[in-house]
Amino acid sequence: MAKSHERGSTVTSVDVVIVGAGFAGLSAAERLVSMGVSVLVVEGRDRVGGRSLSGEVAGVKVDLGATWVARRHTAIRSLASRVGCGTTSQFNRGHNVLWMAGRRHTYTGTLPMVSPAAMVDMARIQTALNKLVSTINVDAAWESPHASRLDDISFGEWLDQKHALGSTRALMTIVSKVQWGCSPGDVSLLHALRYIRAAGGIDHMLDVEGGQQQDRITETTQEIARRLAERLGDSVVVGSPVRRITQDDNGVTVRTDSDAIKAKYVIVTAAPAHRADIEFQPALPEKSEGLTKTWRMGALSKAFVAYHEPFWRADGLSGEALTDTGTVFITFDVSPNDTGPGVLMAFCDPRVFDGFSPENRRSRVIRQLVDLYGPRANSPIDYVDHCWGTEPFAPGGPNPAVPPYASVSHASALTEPHGRVHWAGTETAGEWAGTMNGAVLTGQRAAERVAALLSHDAREEPTR
Ligand SMILES: Cc1cc2nc3c(=O)[nH]c(=O)nc-3n(C[C@H](O)[C@H](O)[C@H](O)COP(=O)(O)OP(=O)(O)OC[C@H]3O[C@@H](n4cnc5c(N)ncnc54)[C@H](O)[C@@H]3O)c2cc1C
Repeated sequence: MAKSHERGSTVTSVDVVIVGAGFAGLSAAERLVSMGVSVLVVEGRDRVGGRSLSGEVAGVKVDLGATWVARRHTAIRSLASRVGCGTTSQFNRGHNVLWMAGRRHTYTGTLPMVSPAAMVDMARIQTALNKLVSTINVDAAWESPHASRLDDISFGEWLDQKHALGSTRALMTIVSKVQWGCSPGDVSLLHALRYIRAAGGIDHMLDVEGGQQQDRITETTQEIARRLAERLGDSVVVGSPVRRITQDDNGVTVRTDSDAIKAKYVIVTAAPAHRADIEFQPALPEKSEGLTKTWRMGALSKAFVAYHEPFWRADGLSGEALTDTGTVFITFDVSPNDTGPGVLMAFCDPRVFDGFSPENRRSRVIRQLVDLYGPRANSPIDYVDHCWGTEPFAPGGPNPAVPPYASVSHASALTEPHGRVHWAGTETAGEWAGTMNGAVLTGQRAAERVAALLSHDAREEPTR
């Protein structure tokens, strides 16, 4: 990396600048470095990992952001093993708890059996969803047959049209809050179908065993990013938001508050909504501007409550619960073993969580855990939570809550390069969009495209 000084700011020269040190950015850097290309990864937060963040409760490391990997998530698994991280199966032995319409039930399997009518209705809606999902082009959902019609309505409106029962709607609301960080009425049907298709279908999306919730990363998911960044050494800079990217025929200049980095190409991995915080010169075309304005991020919050031991296991409960009331809408058991601290991970609805004081948030969560798991849930030994929607930099997650009309109009701008600016990030993935696995794949794909352009440029140079 070459460095010099220009009007008070450090000027660095590399082949490729990568904006963002999440899984997409770090994977792009890893691939480019392996091909002998010089890179600088510039991250706005003061840490690497993006939507992946480690926390600790009662001495147990937990994932405040991304958690699970499916067996079929081979790209992130392979990255994890390259940096020496392992996997732990998601605990799911025993009965699950369902709190619906003010009543507590227990059940086994992925979906709860509230009543025979509810089961029949859920199966009917799943069949209808699967039929639509099978029509989706996973690499360009907006080019699927009937894309415009599917993008005209929200997932919620579609459930209305199908006369979904309240119980089916409640379950689909939980799916929507976990996947897109919003209610079904706030997400386009096409966008929902795209993500279900990208997740390998609704069953794979929802299942623990053999599905997307199959395994956790033993050392936490952010640890993968930390170890990869450590290997990349000085090529990763944190605490440096990129403010402006200018380009001409010869290259790009990427500006942070203190530095100007000159490069031949730049790969931007920020989520579409966060691309808007960077000033591009020349400006992005209208479609890309539309993308940044309409692909707003959803929001999701997580709380972890620790107990002396996972007492629910002795009661024959898995620690998995679904609820249609209150702040917490889903829980999982992320305890390290049967005897040590018992840890429940609770997904919380940010609308009735983020705005409250830490004490209030804690008591809301614990009150609900008492409903679900009994009075012993009232004696935690530790608690931690995280609100993604109120993060000061690049807020939101897990995924964009894309409203109707925004996919067909703008989604082709997800991957279309803007001159020397190339795009990566989980939103730009086909298969596995919305997951860490998708992020890794897009980073590697963008790296290969840019490396091919660099080789092409090098071949052309002597003839210029
Ligand atoms: C609560 C939650 C739960 C999740 N659960 C799972 C799960 O179980 N399994 C799973 O696979 N996925 C899960 N995800 C999704 C997963 O975290 C993401 O798909 C993945 O981490 C995205 O990686 P990325 O590199 O594409 O984007 P990001 O991780 O968002 O990385 C982009 C980076 O760019 C940086 N950036 C943005 N703008 C700028 C700028 N102007 N200058 C410099 N840097 C910038 C950001 O700070 C960020 O670090 C979850 C996410 C959340 C929030």
